[in-house]
Amino acid sequence: MQLTVWTYEGPPHVGAMRIATAMEGVHYVLHAPQGDTYADLLFTMIERRDKRPPVTYTTFEARDLGKDTAELFQSTLIAAYERFLPQAVLVGSSCTAELIQDDPGGLAQAANLPVPVVPLELPSYQRKENWGAAETFYQLVRAMAGGQVSQSQNSDAAHSPLPAGISPTRGENGLFETPGTPFSPLAGEMSPEATEGGALAQASQSQTRRRPRCNILGPTALGFRHRDDVAEIRKLLGEIGVDVAVVAPLGATPGDLARLGEADFNVVLYPEIAGVAAKWLKRQFGQEFTTVVPIGVGATREFVAEVCRLAGIAAPEFAPEKPQSNLPWFSRSVDSNYLTGKRVFVFGDATHALAAARVATEEFGFTLCGLGTYTRELARDVRTAAKEYGVEPLISDDYLEVEAAIAEAQPELVLGTQMERHIAKRLGIGCAVISAPVHVQDYPARYSPQMGFEGANVLWDSWVHPLVMGLEEHLLGMFREDFEFNDEAVPSHLGSGARTAPEPAEGIQVADCEAPAGVGWGVDAEAELRKIPFFVRGKARRNTEKYAAERGLAEITVETLYDAKAHFSR
Ligand code: SF4
Repeated sequence: MQLTVWTYEGPPHVGAMRIATAMEGVHYVLHAPQGDTYADLLFTMIERRDKRPPVTYTTFEARDLGKDTAELFQSTLIAAYERFLPQAVLVGSSCTAELIQDDPGGLAQAANLPVPVVPLELPSYQRKENWGAAETFYQLVRAMAGGQVSQSQNSDAAHSPLPAGISPTRGENGLFETPGTPFSPLAGEMSPEATEGGALAQASQSQTRRRPRCNILGPTALGFRHRDDVAEIRKLLGEIGVDVAVVAPLGATPGDLARLGEADFNVVLYPEIAGVAAKWLKRQFGQEFTTVVPIGVGATREFVAEVCRLAGIAAPEFAPEKPQSNLPWFSRSVDSNYLTGKRVFVFGDATHALAAARVATEEFGFTLCGLGTYTRELARDVRTAAKEYGVEPLISDDYLEVEAAIAEAQPELVLGTQMERHIAKRLGIGCAVISAPVHVQDYPARYSPQMGFEGANVLWDSWVHPLVMGLEEHLLGMFREDFEFNDEAVPSHLGSGARTAPEPAEGIQVADCEAPAGVGWGVDAEAELRKIPFFVRGKARRNTEKYAAERGLAEITVETLYDAKAHFSR
């Protein structure tokens, strides 16, 4: 049992819903108690989708438990199929239904539907939303792009769920064979790796030379900026001469998944979602996949180089006089000098946290004072990165632990999720959102990618915005007693209703307030310390206490404060 008020991720069946909702022609029949339809609101309200998710719930009640819930599942499944006529069906259980063990997969098989049925085994008490999304996507890709499908798959071509022109046939061992034709863009021949894939159709000898082609994997419903990331990356790929075969799961049909093997390689935008499927596609079709997530200018350039290598085409030169993004110039401009060394704490899903740490340090000139993730599946990558940045990695899905770590690190900016936005507000620190979970305001009407060169512009604007501006900082330092620019002033854009004093919220231990054992502050020294603007006061306090503790001083005087300042400025 764990006492939880906020969770970073939903249960795994919400991940499965994100895949089903992202796709076209897929229906999800979920064995779940009455009330689980709340998850629909995530899509219709937060993401503002204009139709209900393609999910039918059995919505069993307490009185159903004395009866045959398996029968209820089966009749719901058949009714949902007849009503929606999907091309493929997902079946599974929510947390409560997992406990009553009705086996949706077996029941669906017995129902003998004329379309592929993919049973989902999502362990709700061990795994969470992103894992559920990754597993669902992987199972769908396996089923549709050449793997084993449920026995309820009908062999009757009249019921084929796939669009005209795509007719996967069963090969040996019940595997589907799809008419994919991987093609080497350099030699104009079928790539040698591709010929090793057992489920490939033969390459057409008459095929003419064409541009290299990739799939884009990972964007889902309810993904943080997935809609615009796909648009941005698709545009970028087009500019460097790479066509996009299939984008999946967002907007894809089961028939599109059957064509995944036709591409030369895969672009993995969100490893949490598409990593497992991409590895399977590599084993099955010999398709390499990208490993660089194109968030930030540097990573986007590396991504372009990686794509060009996989596509076998020459990488474009990035001429400095023709910048693709405004970020490098904006961060070099003199007005950005004051950003140098600002302490930033980064927390989010692993993909966005790693990307943000890199952009913050390499492209903004910030100093990283904390890095963490709630994605346990990619915790190792975050640990490695944190070591390189010289900070303690924080792998946790307990927001109280995150809150304590932020309070301890005393950043000037937090880059995090919706939770960190609340935490930062309580602590009076500026914050920008970089990762799910997010609220409705992070599904904006305007074009707002995180990825690619335009994404870098968006990062610049949204990360700098919450900070105290350079001029404000200057005035706060010069006129501490001023009625307007005093050290309790908050960034002007927060307005007068925002925090009036930089005191920690109740119940939060802020390291700023606790001197090491044996070191105390004299009254004069404390008064002098308060003259230092609040955004650097914590650092000044810590440094002075460290200085005093190292010298065995019991009390910090004004003199100690200035000695410490001189010491650390050397
Ligand atoms: S079954 Fe799971 S998702 Fe549904 S209400 Fe219970 S705990 Fe929540």
